[in-house]
Amino acid sequence: MKVIELKGLKKTYHLEKIDVPVLHGIDLEINQGEFVAIMGHSGSGKSTLLNILGLLDKSSEGSFKLAGIEVSKYTDNELASLRNRYIGFIFQQFNLLTKLTALENVSLPVIYSGSKDEKKHENPKKLLELVGLKDRMDHRPNEMSGGQQQRVAIARSLINKPLVIFADEPTGNLDTKSTKEIINILKKLNESGITIVMVTHEPDLTAYATRTITVQDGLIVSDQSSNGFKESKKKNNAQSFTHKAFSISRIKDYFIQASRSLVGNKMRSVLSILGVMIGVASLISMLAVGTGAQKAIEEQVAGLGSNLLMVRPGMAQSGGISAETGSRMRLYHEDIEDLRRNVPGIAGITGYANGRVQVVAGGRNYNTRMEGVSVDYSQMRNSVPSSGRFFTELENTEKKRVVLLGKTVVKEIFGSEDFNPIGEYVKINRIDFQVIGILPIKGSSGFRDEDDKVIMPLNTAMYRVAGMDHLDNMDIQVKEDADMQEVSERITQRLLFTHRFDPSDVSAVRVRNMAEIQETMSSMASAFSLLLGAIAFISLLVGGIGIMNIMFVSVSERTKEIGLRKAIGANNADILFQFIIESIVVCCAGGIMGILFGAGGAIAISKIAGWTTSVTLFSIVLAFCFSAFTGLIFGVWPARKASLLNPIEALRHD
Ligand code: ADP
Ligand code: MG
Repeated sequence: MKVIELKGLKKTYHLEKIDVPVLHGIDLEINQGEFVAIMGHSGSGKSTLLNILGLLDKSSEGSFKLAGIEVSKYTDNELASLRNRYIGFIFQQFNLLTKLTALENVSLPVIYSGSKDEKKHENPKKLLELVGLKDRMDHRPNEMSGGQQQRVAIARSLINKPLVIFADEPTGNLDTKSTKEIINILKKLNESGITIVMVTHEPDLTAYATRTITVQDGLIVSDQSSNGFKESKKKNNAQSFTHKAFSISRIKDYFIQASRSLVGNKMRSVLSILGVMIGVASLISMLAVGTGAQKAIEEQVAGLGSNLLMVRPGMAQSGGISAETGSRMRLYHEDIEDLRRNVPGIAGITGYANGRVQVVAGGRNYNTRMEGVSVDYSQMRNSVPSSGRFFTELENTEKKRVVLLGKTVVKEIFGSEDFNPIGEYVKINRIDFQVIGILPIKGSSGFRDEDDKVIMPLNTAMYRVAGMDHLDNMDIQVKEDADMQEVSERITQRLLFTHRFDPSDVSAVRVRNMAEIQETMSSMASAFSLLLGAIAFISLLVGGIGIMNIMFVSVSERTKEIGLRKAIGANNADILFQFIIESIVVCCAGGIMGILFGAGGAIAISKIAGWTTSVTLFSIVLAFCFSAFTGLIFGVWPARKASLLNPIEALRHD
């Protein structure tokens, strides 16, 4: 039974400019059970020949039958599968994976065999026992001597019950004692029926072989069989070869491999996870701030009702007969009564006199917003006191010193929100006021705490506290059945008339519709959240590019590992998936941590800055999908690069 048949095998390396012919037509037959030693000067082509025999490299010309199968036309993936099933390789450099234990190294080829069938492969522990490493199973390569490492490599080559073992100078890196041990193990394996082809420099070792071939300048120049070779009667299983490409059952192994390599390179993994985490966390928290602001603005605006007109003095443009020519129009207390009487369709009017005041009680001192308002304010702005009462029109005209407090003010002055201050006296800008009510809780409107204010009668505010004779502005509520536009125009005209402005000077007073204001505010809010989203998106993109960078480094760092995995039977898809899964795992881990940190950040922002934030399910799903997607996109490129590496070139990489 012939394990190997070569006819006219040639190999030429194609370099950039020149072709380097290395093998010039090799004819060779190797029978099952032989122990072939290949000798020759350095550079004569021994390794090239062995790599082709071991299916790690392809011939340029000629026929190659492995166990009767013509393999020279096989695809890369088919060759990977053949390597895994029928070939064991022992390298001069051992090529063990440093992050794995001896036992894991020995078991590695099983992953790529596509079959978990116990009968198809040897027991890895028994193999380690066989090579005398029973008590070293959990050691890693760097804890072992060269001889021990090579013994692990031999055990690995045996795991899938190979038809033939190729060894390229297996003792080249070992001292004499280890060399003896290794060659004896190989000898024993050969006696048990395994075909061995070994390249060696050392003439002594040919004594162990049953046949010695000498190669010179790419040709076989001598071929001597020695004593005592009996052809093995071991059954050849190669005929049953079927190529199995990708199988779902390997996915679990990909995850195991990926997590191994992530755990094995902790620093690198932590940094990449950190990159994604920061991206996702900022995406989540920025979206939370954005949507929170939008919601708060919408709620607040909706609470005002759409039948509200805001009246503000504008700037007069042209001269007139008025004493106020060329100056701002001023709104006075009298305007409220005048408009109520002369403009039809008005349901309520409140003037405003605003300012900041110092509130003092019981030794506590607090600075807050003051609003002097009319009685209508209570119903127009949904501000019926939660306890106590609103002030009356009489109290307003008599400039009574009564005040309503917002919840935040109660808490700051009296120490607790639950304190009932009604009837108590507080000093506002050194004037004594009696508290008559507490304002209903409004919450925060994005950036401003609506409960952080005090309200008092308009006249009291104007004449006693702020010391002003005019209003800041007015809100006018229009009757449900009235035409907003018409009422708005009438108000403008009436004010121009009473203040003796030119009727065409419409910019002297500005009357704005609540619906308009609502629109501007919500479009501002959505522009704001879009901006925040864009910033977060960019940070995630930067994180993704960081991952790609790290993946590229990892690919080039681990080129040797990729080469070895391919040598023992991993195909392109196996390598591709391992790397993609690594980056997806990194991104998902970063994604989940980012979501936690982002949500935490959003809560912290709302606690510290008092802004409304809202973490939506949508933003979580978006961030998570996006991070997984980043992992996929930015992982694919380096992974593809890794998967396309030629095994023998990858192995040579350092
Ligand atoms: P040996 O193992 O007998 O020392 P090799 O098979 O490694 O020799 O190399 C034989 C010849 O092929 C050498 O001249 C070497 O420079 C050349 N060679 C080997 N590998 C490559 C390659 N990848 N590209 C170009 N030339 C190569
Ligand atoms: Mg060599």
